[in-house]
Amino acid sequence: MAPEADVVVVGAGLAGLTAARRLTQAGASVKVVEARDRVGGRTLNHKLANGNVVEVGGQWVGPTQHRMLALTQEVGVEIYPTYDRGENAFEWNGEMRRYEGAIPKINPAVLLDVLQAQKRLDRMARTVPLDAPWRAPKARQWDNQTVWSWLRRNVASRPAREILTLGCEAVWAAAPGDVSLLHFLFYTHSAGGLDALFDTAGGAQESRFHGGSQLVSLKMAEELDVELDAPVRTIAQDGSGVTVRTERGEFRGRRAIVAIPPMLAGRLVYDPPMPGHRDQLLQRMAQGSVIKCMAVYPEAFWRGDGLSGQATSLEGPVKLTFDNSPPDDSAGVLLGFLEGPQARRLTRLDQAERRRLVIDCFTRFFGPRAAVPEEYVDRSWAEEEYTRGCYGCGVATGGWTEFGDALRAPIGRLGWAGAEYGVVWNGYMDGAVSSGETAAQEALRNL
Ligand SMILES: Cc1cc2nc3c(=O)[nH]c(=O)nc-3n(C[C@H](O)[C@H](O)[C@H](O)COP(=O)(O)OP(=O)(O)OC[C@H]3O[C@@H](n4cnc5c(N)ncnc54)[C@H](O)[C@@H]3O)c2cc1C
Repeated sequence: MAPEADVVVVGAGLAGLTAARRLTQAGASVKVVEARDRVGGRTLNHKLANGNVVEVGGQWVGPTQHRMLALTQEVGVEIYPTYDRGENAFEWNGEMRRYEGAIPKINPAVLLDVLQAQKRLDRMARTVPLDAPWRAPKARQWDNQTVWSWLRRNVASRPAREILTLGCEAVWAAAPGDVSLLHFLFYTHSAGGLDALFDTAGGAQESRFHGGSQLVSLKMAEELDVELDAPVRTIAQDGSGVTVRTERGEFRGRRAIVAIPPMLAGRLVYDPPMPGHRDQLLQRMAQGSVIKCMAVYPEAFWRGDGLSGQATSLEGPVKLTFDNSPPDDSAGVLLGFLEGPQARRLTRLDQAERRRLVIDCFTRFFGPRAAVPEEYVDRSWAEEEYTRGCYGCGVATGGWTEFGDALRAPIGRLGWAGAEYGVVWNGYMDGAVSSGETAAQEALRNL
């Protein structure tokens, strides 16, 4: 059978669509096949009853996320700053404390412990090569322990470990015991440091998208040939091309780019079968667990109380919140995250029960007016058949050092893309975009 397209791209998330866009711009013919009835993958706009758009998936972009920022501009989507004024709130030992800036008012000895650990982790992270984490001078030692083991041995006070655990849950949507220390360090370096991961102003949470982040994918898709509702099940290679078998028929290309989360890529059937070392790597790339929850109010009443809407809690189950109100201030939206163990527990509840627990947290953090939202929205990404967990993945111990070189290596006519393949801002929209661009260049070289 003759190839119908130069390249078949599997998955219409940011990575797949960017790959398809760059290939098309270079004159190649491209077919994109997508399992869902929509594009955007882990970016998903949701229209509230009041007409405003919020995102139930990825939503922020920050400085140094150059590839995502460039693409956003290229497709004509604008960004605006995340609301970040007023005091932040911190819940500890059943008590709410308010503070300005990045550093909560807690016991100075605990704070010192946290800051010293952060400094050490940042220093260690800088020694991890981004394109080959397994070549870090202490790669073996770090890949043989989890973040939990490191915290136990290196951070003296329990509250300091709890704060750092919260940081790990917030960024990786995983418990520190799930993630290899080497992966934690690679990911940290890939973002430019822990502050870049944690911060709003100057960090990953700095800006939002007018019209919602999914708009970037929707705009790209308008100019591409995308087959929706076409879950790929099998990918077969032969001497002249690749046959991608979906539930809506077969698509044939000279090459293919698989742009779906690695763990889902491991569930496809390959002919010839995947080499063992790549499959074993994918078995160690577990997706995180996150439920993104939003409550909608007639106004952002916490602003009037001098609060930023950013709360951190060691009690939970919501441990992190943001002010997610629309840019024209026409309503108030509180955003809360259930991450790692909290998401795993609460995804088993029905939405009404989850709503009760989430609103109870919002009420503790922001007062009784938070108890009566006009609307409540949440999405558990583990329940999504074509994602199975977010934000990205946490590589388990031994993954990088035993199998890391298999991650980005093409296999015959197959290349790989997705946030988990990103060298810079791995796991983020920016990493997805850059991985798509790299996969497109690699396909073009080999067409
Ligand atoms: C709640 C949440 C909050 C986040 N917050 C942020 C944030 O603020 N900033 C940030 O930068 N990042 C954030 N992220 C991460 C970011 O959204 C992702 O890194 C990025 O969107 C991933 O893009 P991708 O193209 O690599 O993968 P995906 O978006 O997962 O795209 C893969 C596509 O492949 C499709 N697919 C899967 N299986 C098949 C199959 N068998 N056949 C065909 N198609 C298939 C899927 O439907 C999907 O459309 C967040 C993610 C979530 C879920």
